[in-house]
Amino acid sequence: MEDGDMKKWRSKLGKNEETTNGGVASRGVTVREVRTLLMANLNPNDEREFLPLAHGDPSIFPSFCTSPVAVDAVLDAFRSGRFNCYAPAVGLLPARKAVAEHLSHDLPYKLSTDDVFITIGCTQAIDITLSALNRPTANVLLPRPGYPYYEARSSYIGLETRYFDLLPEREWEVDLHALETLTDSNTIAMVIINPGNPCGNVYSYHHLQKVAEMAKKLGLIVISDEVYGHLTLGSKPFVPMGVFGSIAPVITVGSISKRWLVPGWRLGWLVINDTHAILHNLGVQKQFQGALPQILEKTKGDFFLRIKEILQYDADICYEKLKNIPGISCPHKPEGAMFIMVKLNLTLLDDILDDIDFCIKLAKEENMIVLPGVTVGLKNWLRITYALEPSALQEGLARIQAFCQRHAATN
Ligand SMILES: *Cc1c(COP(=O)(O)O)cnc(C)c1O
Repeated sequence: MEDGDMKKWRSKLGKNEETTNGGVASRGVTVREVRTLLMANLNPNDEREFLPLAHGDPSIFPSFCTSPVAVDAVLDAFRSGRFNCYAPAVGLLPARKAVAEHLSHDLPYKLSTDDVFITIGCTQAIDITLSALNRPTANVLLPRPGYPYYEARSSYIGLETRYFDLLPEREWEVDLHALETLTDSNTIAMVIINPGNPCGNVYSYHHLQKVAEMAKKLGLIVISDEVYGHLTLGSKPFVPMGVFGSIAPVITVGSISKRWLVPGWRLGWLVINDTHAILHNLGVQKQFQGALPQILEKTKGDFFLRIKEILQYDADICYEKLKNIPGISCPHKPEGAMFIMVKLNLTLLDDILDDIDFCIKLAKEENMIVLPGVTVGLKNWLRITYALEPSALQEGLARIQAFCQRHAATN
């Protein structure tokens, strides 16, 4: 890489000074607030089963229980008595090594243990990344729609956020042109989420390469949220952004929360994929960490296969059913993660004001919740989680259909 390119990143990273905790700026509604609002609107007299299609954690459903290998690994770690002491702040060495080896399988180079930091879920990896990159006048580019935590956390630490669109008609790819128009000399990083939450899309090798090249041109660090890494359906493979760590510096954040279906275990990582050592100077739970090598190395392929088969089945019925419901359109069939984004056509629905109104009325009339798109940055869309027991999902889709038929425009 030529010196000129390195300079762009260095000059931005050099501006590191103490940042304040002020800036709890105005922010949109959070997922939790909206979920609370919708729950409050359920009809207590509705005797049908309550159906949650707005969650991001299917671990409560019998089909989505974790692998016994993971449970054994944790029990072994507890019983060994070796992990009762304090862990180093960066994580236990064997855990870091296991993550480095695990992620290196998909990379054209080998990660070292020093590139890996163990975190309290992917959430803390996001916190640390944003805090480490924050400077008094810095800004960060976030996808729209996106995962609202990035905005909430940025706002909390006083980091300015700007938004680039994901394009539904182009399989939710990044609007690369928008990156150029949004970036100025204070733009430090951009975030991508792959496989996508809320869009359920999976980026191709080719598109990720283009993102990396644009990041290089603009001097941006790419924060790649791969918490759904490898949770892909069908034939499109998952490509980690770290593959392009030689084009632009990449910070990968991830965890075992989603792929192993154990979000309560709070076990994640932050990984520096940066073959030119541009991020060299970035400053960054114990039983579970002790279990991580066994979890990553020994979980059997048939566990992942079974989960993927259920998700694939769920995604298929979800897409096929929703496609034929008047008032709803699905621009893109889900390829990964656990979600589908669908668009409301309000002209086909008589008495529905917007996505929030749709979701409140759905909660009232059908004893179920889905997430209004406005919470993830797209007004008048819905994010529907399909990771449920197939029978419950089918029932939920039937209720959405009945609801839309009941509210269909009469003219
Ligand atoms: C669930 C989720 C996280 C948080 O992961 P944890 O490991 O539970 O902290 C981060 N990013 C995205 C996109 C998620 O969906």
